[in-house]
Amino acid sequence: MNRILVVEDHAPLRAQIAALLQGAGWLVEEASDGRLGLQLALEQPPDVLVLDLGLPGLDGIELCRRLREQADRHVPVLMLTARDGLDDKRQGFGAGADDYLLKPFAGEELLWRCQALARRGELGRSPVLQRGPLRIDRRAGAVSAGDGPVLPLPRQAYRLLVALAEAWPRTVTRSELQQQLWADEPPESDALRSHLYTLRQALAADQALVKTVHGVGLRLDLPG
Ligand code: CA
Repeated sequence: MNRILVVEDHAPLRAQIAALLQGAGWLVEEASDGRLGLQLALEQPPDVLVLDLGLPGLDGIELCRRLREQADRHVPVLMLTARDGLDDKRQGFGAGADDYLLKPFAGEELLWRCQALARRGELGRSPVLQRGPLRIDRRAGAVSAGDGPVLPLPRQAYRLLVALAEAWPRTVTRSELQQQLWADEPPESDALRSHLYTLRQALAADQALVKTVHGVGLRLDLPG
């Protein structure tokens, strides 16, 4: 599931954008000012950042510039503005924006642009994630540990591991995992626990890597 951060100070518009993206299956986070937006984008880099130009705290141009300086990976940025000036666009692209949308815009166009940015972001990512001894090949859907054979992981246990590996080093909350694994069809109450059990069994000697952070969620326990 793609994660998107919407930084927009106009609450009704922010809610409208969030609802539109959630409806399309995105996991949406929101911020109403530039400082919080930058902090969230650095802590948990989203797959796409929708960024308003005029913001309290830190404007969109400055946020984008600092994100490019400080983030350890490229976060695709779609800038929103009501101003139709060439100068705003020059500044926006100069600060590192990837795309630009003028207000008012059609919801569908915002969605298409976000999807295109997320796809481009994915093309630049390796299908293989190496996390400690675990090698996760997302193209093949296969996990192995060290030089060992492919582990027999049922689909949901595999998806659980991928969610943790992609998010590492941060902790993934239970509600986030539930949303990523089941989206619109909430499972029975203990489904996550049973997939976690299956995952740990399959990891055998490496099962301590999947650490429960009490009251929060799960994370991969690796140095870094
Ligand atoms: Ca604004």
